[in-house]
Amino acid sequence: MNEDAEAAFAAVADELRVRILRELWDADDPLSFSELRERVGVRDSGRFNYHLGELRGRFVEKDEDAGGYDLRFAGRKLVGGLYSGVYTEAAEPVGPQPVDGSCVTCGGDLEAVYEDEHGKVDCTDCEVTLIQTGVPPAFVDGREDDLAAAVDGYVRTTSRSFLDGFCPTCSGPTAGRLEDSEYGPQAVVECERCGASFYGLAAWVGVDHPAVVSFYDDHDRSVRDTELWRLDWLADAAWVDGADGDRATVTVELDGEALRLTVADDLAATAVERTETD
Ligand SMILES: [Zn+2]
Ligand SMILES: [Zn+2]
Repeated sequence: MNEDAEAAFAAVADELRVRILRELWDADDPLSFSELRERVGVRDSGRFNYHLGELRGRFVEKDEDAGGYDLRFAGRKLVGGLYSGVYTEAAEPVGPQPVDGSCVTCGGDLEAVYEDEHGKVDCTDCEVTLIQTGVPPAFVDGREDDLAAAVDGYVRTTSRSFLDGFCPTCSGPTAGRLEDSEYGPQAVVECERCGASFYGLAAWVGVDHPAVVSFYDDHDRSVRDTELWRLDWLADAAWVDGADGDRATVTVELDGEALRLTVADDLAATAVERTETD
């Protein structure tokens, strides 16, 4: 962040300019100067021109071929942020709601809660938090009745983005590594640009792995349709050779068959084998 960032925020620190961005967002096609001015509702053409000029270049562009003004990527990101409610709404807490399933640690009952801009699934007995994520107010919109499913879906989406190399916050490149933790090997993915990070157990890299997806298919199940807190193997990663090192192993077990993944230091799953466990 630098002086350019301050200039960018200054450019949108005006109610009329925010209205211009919203009208461009709502329009299906680029708008001419007079169409846009009418929609925003400003009579004074000179005043309107001044404010539009402050947005041009960074947030708004004039497309000569289409004959009008349109949002640039920064403008769309900004309006998207406004719709998420992250700048304007105080989120009402939701829950706790009972969740189907039981705690992997103690077998206790689970509950889902949304509060302080975080959605999470907790154990009511040992109070361990199984999954947790920071989310804007728009997250609960229409999903109040099944908070747990919403948390599950959101965490999968953001973690997949991190693991696939794109920061869900700023779209910058991410890099993953293995780290030791009190629960064994842990997957850490950090954005090299903004520093946003994802922390999960090392087995997390298996949730979307093609070998795991087809392993579940072969057992007539779907790993995608199984909530994260029901994937009991998520807690079972171990360091290869029993020492903290550069490789971890993840074992997925279903119906007497085990699938083994080896997770390298950069979180790539490098080896896969299946064995009978009976
Ligand atoms: Zn528990
Ligand atoms: Zn980032």
